[in-house]
Amino acid sequence: MMKIADMFKKDKIVVSFEIFPPKQQYPVSTIYDTIQSLKVLKPDFISVTYGAGGSSSATTFEIAKKVKNDYDLETVTHFTCIGASSEEIEDSLEKIKKINVKNILALRGDPPNNQEDSLSNSKYHYAKDLITHIKKNHDFCVGGAAYPEGHLECRDLETNIEHLKQKVDCGTDFLITQIFFDNGIYYKFLDKLGQKGIDIPICVGIMPILNAKQIQRICSLCGASIPSEMQAMIAKYGNNARDMEKSGMEYACKQISDLADHKVAGIHVYTMNRPNQVSTIIKQTGLR
Ligand code: FAD
Repeated sequence: MMKIADMFKKDKIVVSFEIFPPKQQYPVSTIYDTIQSLKVLKPDFISVTYGAGGSSSATTFEIAKKVKNDYDLETVTHFTCIGASSEEIEDSLEKIKKINVKNILALRGDPPNNQEDSLSNSKYHYAKDLITHIKKNHDFCVGGAAYPEGHLECRDLETNIEHLKQKVDCGTDFLITQIFFDNGIYYKFLDKLGQKGIDIPICVGIMPILNAKQIQRICSLCGASIPSEMQAMIAKYGNNARDMEKSGMEYACKQISDLADHKVAGIHVYTMNRPNQVSTIIKQTGLR
């Protein structure tokens, strides 16, 4: 059993995939073919997202258990603290321990359906407090989220990096970034982290854009900016599903190859549960 932080000791890019639980109306088993197809690509780990406020916690844990114990892949469970009491947090951490998962991506989460009041029920208001709790009471390897363009609630990058520094100082072992489409933004971010003495391993989050609708939704949710090259791509291919998918995959390949040339520690692909496209990208970029 390997902790994620130890994977970066090898002189090779750590490759990871993020999957999400199927929508409630579908059985959990609908994800198993996806996991099998992703396993063929020999990822260093797979992470499973978590519905903030615990809305999908049982499914997240069920899938994480399967990935770890049946597919024999190193696993990260995402876990959010928004709206959760101390007891709920402890209960979940015990469950994660029981399913044999050693790695947690510890997040604050967002209030479900804009229920701002769910914040008031929360034991912890920031991810750093959850991370402090986990590190003090348990033996998990803990990751945190990083935002190369700042966070939606904190667009001032310097301040956001100050907050990230606090989170890292609480014992965060590795980071996974929010998506971005302009590598230049990431390299500048990395410089700033260096100046602050943040030097823990970072998995760079990459999302292949496969249709024009997806990009608008994603960018409004996470605040990633769309560079002119991508805008031109959407203008040209947005109405043609096949060409849009093809050019979106080429864009992701270009981003990944450039990151690999810059010797990033890890590439984390937001798979959107689309293993075929991920497979093409991973093979074309020579990551596998
Ligand atoms: P934090 O690090 O706590 O930051 C939240 C905000 O608080 C930021 O604006 C920060 O600047 C500010 N802040 C932090 N510390 C302080 C302080 N001391 N004083 C004042 N302000 C402060 N969400 C899900 O629901 N489920 C998932 O599975 C999931 N997976 C994700 C995976 C990745 C890789 C990423 C990047 C995000 C993911 N999210 C997920 C989204 C995440 O929950 C949201 O972005 C959320 O708004 C912030 O979570 P955080 O852990 O980054 O919070």
